[in-house]
Amino acid sequence: MAEILVLVEHTGEDVKKVTGELLTLARKFGEPAAVWAGPGSAGGQARLAEFGAVKVYVADGPEFDDYVVAPKAELLAALVAAASPAAVLVPSTAEGREIGGRLAIKTGSGVLTDAVAVEEGLLAEQSNFGGAIIVKSRVRTGAPIIAIRPNSGPAEPAPGAAEIVPFSVEISDAAKTAHITERVVAERGERPELTEASIVVSGGRGVGSGENFPLIEKLADSLGAAVGASRAATDAGWYPHQFQVGQTGKTVSPQLYLAVGISGAIQHRAGMQTAKTIMVINKDAEAPIFELADFGVVGDLFNVVPQLTEEIQKRSDG
Ligand SMILES: Cc1cc2nc3c(=O)[nH]c(=O)nc-3n(C[C@H](O)[C@H](O)[C@H](O)COP(=O)(O)OP(=O)(O)OC[C@H]3O[C@@H](n4cnc5c(N)ncnc54)[C@H](O)[C@@H]3O)c2cc1C
Repeated sequence: MAEILVLVEHTGEDVKKVTGELLTLARKFGEPAAVWAGPGSAGGQARLAEFGAVKVYVADGPEFDDYVVAPKAELLAALVAAASPAAVLVPSTAEGREIGGRLAIKTGSGVLTDAVAVEEGLLAEQSNFGGAIIVKSRVRTGAPIIAIRPNSGPAEPAPGAAEIVPFSVEISDAAKTAHITERVVAERGERPELTEASIVVSGGRGVGSGENFPLIEKLADSLGAAVGASRAATDAGWYPHQFQVGQTGKTVSPQLYLAVGISGAIQHRAGMQTAKTIMVINKDAEAPIFELADFGVVGDLFNVVPQLTEEIQKRSDG
């Protein structure tokens, strides 16, 4: 069976959730072979084995940590030449998409980004214009490179050997032109990362002010969710821009998305409409967001949200 290369997203030894999702998907199409760039593979190996990686190609040179995406694209290109995989899967994050694009140039293969599903025959599905158009595409040249959105599918455990295969590659000088001078880890509370969270609770203009945003945070915390916001809320300075969901913000595909006081503009939908279940709280029954909702409450959020939070807390305490 041909290999499916999966680029591992990790911070040090910590393997990101999306990697489990990609390995799960890769198992459908061939033998999942993880690709680990940079140090930390020994600590991450067990996690890769848990999701069925048959082998782990490890290139642990310092250049993968010292320079931005180019060395990873060169590593993958060398692996494509050496292993002739049936496909290469990368996370559709800002970094993953750039690596995918660079890899496509190097290998002469086609690349598809922002896929939300991959079907039989490596047919990738993309959801465009706020979900109004579903596009299905297949790469016709070379080993397909597909960038998959985090949270698009489950991460299902299945044991794999995750045999470490050291792989050395000479990184070109051209790939070392953009040097990383400093890494500052953003302060994060207990909440999950927005793009990785299984549940996201977002607040919009209806929340009324930054002082009211703790209402949204409390609801999120009762569910173990991440907090998001519409652009109206971030532009008003009520919540930091890094939490904006939408076309010009983050794209999320959680199992559950709660939109609170958000009207459902197409630019907002573009970032959340692939959520598996969508719940809406809005006082206007005509708000377009209800078109997407699996479950909606027409009501004043200042009345509904505290009651909902209290009820969820009671259940989780009991
Ligand atoms: C190029 C471009 C890019 C953009 N990118 C993004 C993006 O990435 N993300 C994004 O979100 N937007 C984006 N926008 C902006 C987008 O068009 C909308 O303006 C924005 O999403 C509106 O945010 P909102 O739904 O919070 O506010 P509104 O549209 O004002 O909706 C507020 C909602 O709250 C409800 N409400 C009010 N009070 C209450 C209450 N007490 N209880 C319950 N409900 C209440 C109202 O009924 C209304 O439906 C972009 C726009 C452009 C032009």
